Amino acid sequence: MTTPNSDQENPTHKASSDIAFRVIDFLLGHGLSTEPVHYAVAHAYVEGNNPAVTTAIDTRLAAGKSIDAFYLVELFEEHLTSEAARHFRGVGGEVGRLLDGLISDIKAADEGSSSFAASLQANIAQIGDSTDSANLQQIAQSLLQAAVSASESNAALKQNLAAADQEAKQLRDELERHRRETLTDPLTGLFNRRGMESEMARLFSDQDIDSTSMLVLDIDHFKRINDTYGHAVGDVVIRKVAETLKGLIPDRAVPVRFGGEEFAVLLAGSSPDHAQTLAEKIRATIERLKLVRRHDQLAISQFTISIGVAMRTLSDDIDALFERADKALYEAKTSGRNRVIMAA
Ligand code: GH3
Ligand code: MG
Ligand code: MG
Repeated sequence: MTTPNSDQENPTHKASSDIAFRVIDFLLGHGLSTEPVHYAVAHAYVEGNNPAVTTAIDTRLAAGKSIDAFYLVELFEEHLTSEAARHFRGVGGEVGRLLDGLISDIKAADEGSSSFAASLQANIAQIGDSTDSANLQQIAQSLLQAAVSASESNAALKQNLAAADQEAKQLRDELERHRRETLTDPLTGLFNRRGMESEMARLFSDQDIDSTSMLVLDIDHFKRINDTYGHAVGDVVIRKVAETLKGLIPDRAVPVRFGGEEFAVLLAGSSPDHAQTLAEKIRATIERLKLVRRHDQLAISQFTISIGVAMRTLSDDIDALFERADKALYEAKTSGRNRVIMAA
């Protein structure tokens, strides 16, 4: 009887199905079910890629204590979920990836054991043809049974993991939506002050220092707009300015509403000329906007915006860059408004 091993030509396949079998072996050996949380911890232990999990289990085993479901859940929460949270800026990415990995292990394991069963079946047929085979046939039959049930439990496990994976994806999407909501200003859809910190930091870190610039923008005499037309019209003006900004800046720029009628844009890959030209275009576009109050068709009088622009220097962090752009904005205000000033 030849050893059925379809994995022989494929070492990766063998490695992953090996791990899956060893994980299942570990779990069954400790009288534990193969539910995803158990599987995840046992997988980390068998693969040896999480020193904390390895040490915890080895220490417990060395102390002669049993590995039970409570303990695995504890290990999962302590060492695997926090790891997931650390790896993903929101939450869930690592959990998803972990599950993706588990599922491919299981698929490989399942294929492995199905071919094991098929191959055994062929061997049983051969044994059946030979004489004096009763004993051998019985042994083979029980081996087949073992292989089939391994395959079935893998199939169930696979299904279980697929469901868990689906849940993890939903959770990840929900968390991502929640994250986006907490970073977004509801009136304009631009980033809010919190979003400004995280998104600007992200863009800031992977840009060439001398091609990053900051625009700080403030609507001129906005209080008058509110006083003349009411707060609701004021809101429409804010939204219109935000829309104009979004329409004019490049995709990778980070637009923020950080105050009532105050905005900032972090621009990547822009020369000083480009930044100034863009700021001027924004200013000129807003100056030309024509708004009409819907319920009485009243034309809102022209409004303008002042903009300060600063280019990032070697020593700038985000705050320093913002400060210089804000100072330039202040100059734009004091020198007459409706203008762009470049920081020195
Ligand atoms: P300046 O040209 O110097 O910027 O004058 P300004 O009137 O625009 O500046 P000021 O800071 O004095 O006034 C800003 C006003 O913006 C005061 C506040 O009532 C109003 N405001 C702040 N947030 C909102 C908002 O969400 N909606 C509306 N409609 N108004 C707001
Ligand atoms: Mg203002
Ligand atoms: Mg202001």
